[in-house]
Amino acid sequence: MSLFDKPVDCNECGAQFVIDDSRIASIKEGDLEVQYFTCPSCGAKYLFFVTDSRMRELVRQRKAVQAKIKAARAKRFQERTFKKYMKEYEKIKKEQEEIFPGLKAKGEKILNGAFARDN
Ligand SMILES: [Zn+2]
Repeated sequence: MSLFDKPVDCNECGAQFVIDDSRIASIKEGDLEVQYFTCPSCGAKYLFFVTDSRMRELVRQRKAVQAKIKAARAKRFQERTFKKYMKEYEKIKKEQEEIFPGLKAKGEKILNGAFARDN
C-alpha cells in the first residue's frame, strides 16, 4: 500500500522515492511511538507520525466515526444524524491537530537522539 499519492523528494540528497508500509519503521519510547521513513538513497530519516495513548485513542475514534459517516451516506440517514457524525469527526480532528505539534516536537527529539551517532 502506498501511503502518499506521489513520490517524495529527499531534502538531503534530492532522491525521489515512494513511501509505502515497508519503508515505515517505528521507535517506541515510553508511551510515545515515533514512526519514520528513511531515504533509500542517503539514509536521511524523516518523521512520519507520532502517537501517544491519547492520540492512538483519537485515531481509533476517528476511524469509527468515518465508518459511521460512510454508512450514513450509503443508507441515506437523516440530515440531523449525518450532521451529528460530522460534528463528532470535526471534534476529534481538532483535538488531533491541537496535540500533534507537541507530539511532533517530542518525536523529532527522539528521532534525532536515536540516530545522532549516524551523522
Ligand atoms: Zn536522501
